[in-house]
Amino acid sequence: MSKSAAFFYTPDFLRYRFGEEHPFNPLRLELTVDLLHDCKLLDPADCLPPRVATADELATFHDPSYIETVRETSLLGYPTAEAAAHDLGTEDNPVFADMHEATAAVVGATLQAGETVMEGKAEHALNLAGGLHHAHRKRASGFCIYNDVAILIHFLRRKYQARVAYVDTDAHHGDGVQWAFYDDPEVLTISLHETGRYLFPGSGYLHELGEGRGYGYAVNVPLEAFTQDASFTECFETVVPTLLRAFEPDVIVSQNGCDGHVWDPLTHLSLTSLSFRRVPEVVHRLAHELAGGRWIALGGGGYDIWRVVPRAWATLWSELSGRPLPPRIPSSWIDRWQPKAPERLPESFDDDADTAPPIPRRREIEEKNRITARAAVENASPLVRGIRGMA
Ligand SMILES: [Zn+2]
Repeated sequence: MSKSAAFFYTPDFLRYRFGEEHPFNPLRLELTVDLLHDCKLLDPADCLPPRVATADELATFHDPSYIETVRETSLLGYPTAEAAAHDLGTEDNPVFADMHEATAAVVGATLQAGETVMEGKAEHALNLAGGLHHAHRKRASGFCIYNDVAILIHFLRRKYQARVAYVDTDAHHGDGVQWAFYDDPEVLTISLHETGRYLFPGSGYLHELGEGRGYGYAVNVPLEAFTQDASFTECFETVVPTLLRAFEPDVIVSQNGCDGHVWDPLTHLSLTSLSFRRVPEVVHRLAHELAGGRWIALGGGGYDIWRVVPRAWATLWSELSGRPLPPRIPSSWIDRWQPKAPERLPESFDDDADTAPPIPRRREIEEKNRITARAAVENASPLVRGIRGMA
């Protein structure tokens, strides 16, 4: 049995494209895959062509009327009143031709990543086009048409009766996934994100804890704007290992949005490469410690497509595959893409120390985040906190 990591990619992912002016740009995937090739980190044998999810699979999470509307809108190529009722054709979620097929391909790849890991064909699997964590049962949201994460977790629950830990470090709250499993104690959702006070989707507060039997199995760590690496990784390490060890998952699903980087144009976190190296390291260790190595990693947000996403996601794949990054970004990659890039492309995987310079409010931000992270652990169900038998 191979103990490698599987990488799911097809150029069809580039069809998931809202348009020229839209921040969600699939070119970031091409830039990343190209970088991995130049770094010799991607073996043709690791790359598996994904399949397209069926309507039945989409319907394990989405309402059939919504799927039908996406299909129709996809054919028409413009939004109808019916589409508008499902938040399609908005500024965030414009309609594009083949929208249904393009998103179903992303979902198919995520399901295959799940299958590959659960069947033991690889210990870890990655779908960088996945992580569309905002889509709701009946509506598009935040650049997400179908929620591949929620569909994956339903699949892991139904087919394998797996206990699933979901760890979301996108700068935006993983709301669609949280609400999908809000009453399910077999699915622990943890989201660290910039506070929803001013940022989309405006949820992900400490008091969102789950409901019914799932109470205490939704965990949120809303962080202050301008949070830097030291505080982010401190909060991550306060919350995630503690709760995962107590929860004892069969499999870990991670959403690895990299829009918390200080250069990202859509959010106000101030992270650098350090956080995007540290998070997958910890998740990787926990997957082996707790879940027989089973780890399904997905992409997510990331809107500095030239300077941030390729480096962050190459770092993620390096962690999954166990293959070290080269000391520098290959000059072949820089030479190929610099003429098209609006900014100077970095030459190193690691950001400089002054990428996110210290700010006057730093101590206050760190202290607030520390209190938030401790409260998130305190609020979790006693079963999640690991106080078994005392509840
Ligand atoms: Zn995001």
